[in-house]
Amino acid sequence: ARRDIGRLRRLPAKLVDGETVTLLANMELPAELPQIRQNGAQGIGLLRSEFLFEEAGALPDEEAQYTVYASIVAGMDDQPVTIRVLDWGSDKGVERLRDLGYDLPEGGGGALGLRGLRLLLAHPQILETQFAAILRASLEGNVSVMLPMVTSVTEIQNCRDIYERVARRLRRRGIKLPAALPPLGIMVETPAAAATADMLVRHADFLSIGTNDLTMYTLAVDRGTSFQSELYSALHPGVLRLIATTVTAALRARRPISICGEFAADPRAAALLIGLGVRTLSMTPSAIPVVKRAIRGLSFEDCDALQHQALLMSDPLALRALLETAAPSGG
Ligand code: PEP
Ligand code: MG
Repeated sequence: ARRDIGRLRRLPAKLVDGETVTLLANMELPAELPQIRQNGAQGIGLLRSEFLFEEAGALPDEEAQYTVYASIVAGMDDQPVTIRVLDWGSDKGVERLRDLGYDLPEGGGGALGLRGLRLLLAHPQILETQFAAILRASLEGNVSVMLPMVTSVTEIQNCRDIYERVARRLRRRGIKLPAALPPLGIMVETPAAAATADMLVRHADFLSIGTNDLTMYTLAVDRGTSFQSELYSALHPGVLRLIATTVTAALRARRPISICGEFAADPRAAALLIGLGVRTLSMTPSAIPVVKRAIRGLSFEDCDALQHQALLMSDPLALRALLETAAPSGG
């Protein structure tokens, strides 16, 4: 299997009839960079920045953040690196924020509370510092910036205002940013965002579907609990339709669209996602060779037929069985 991975690393994720799919890595810590390379990732599709600073006693200042981002970006040479701004709240980091002296409303955290972008817009100085550090690091390579937990156009507009203001400030400090700033895109991981993707896409430079949260919020099933795990499935037609709606909106608007939730790491889901029009998948690095092998056995025609059939199916378990019979055995 090790030799197989070595061989696969150098091969493209190409359908049997020629089209290629881009396979990117999800990343949390710089220590993962060697593994990301070994598995043949073509870049980082999701850098979960909240994990970079877990150990720090205080929220790092611009300089400290810059150093970390710049080393990751430079370490990837000219491959794309999509840095997601802090997705604190819910299960991640709320206590840390209280420790740092931010007054969060009592009981206002949790998955349905002050989380992700909402939290950043409530404390814009956190966002300003992070944008400044990322913009400076963008001079070291190929950077995009991604916003988590988006639910509305207004949130994107407010973020873009802050992004541009921070860039103007950096330029006044003598930092030579390019005229076109790094793309500012959004995660589609709430049902509201997916259902209004055709509106959001006009304000976002790219979209990436976070199926982990999208599945949780759509099905009202906690992503962290296992007792009801059979209910937690991106193959539920409620979730699948939102994925399809989002992909269609992005393709119509000619905006890049990717998937960065765990669903992208499932080799049996690859055919379905490709059939829906997705050509970029970002996943945990160890899944890249497995997904690549699956893709190399698919034809576009098969993917398209599967997608049509899948969207008509009401039972996630039946769809799971169909995907298993449709998956090629290797390539
Ligand atoms: C997601 O929600 O699918 C996602 C990729 O983000 P995270 O897992 O970090 O919430
Ligand atoms: Mg998420």
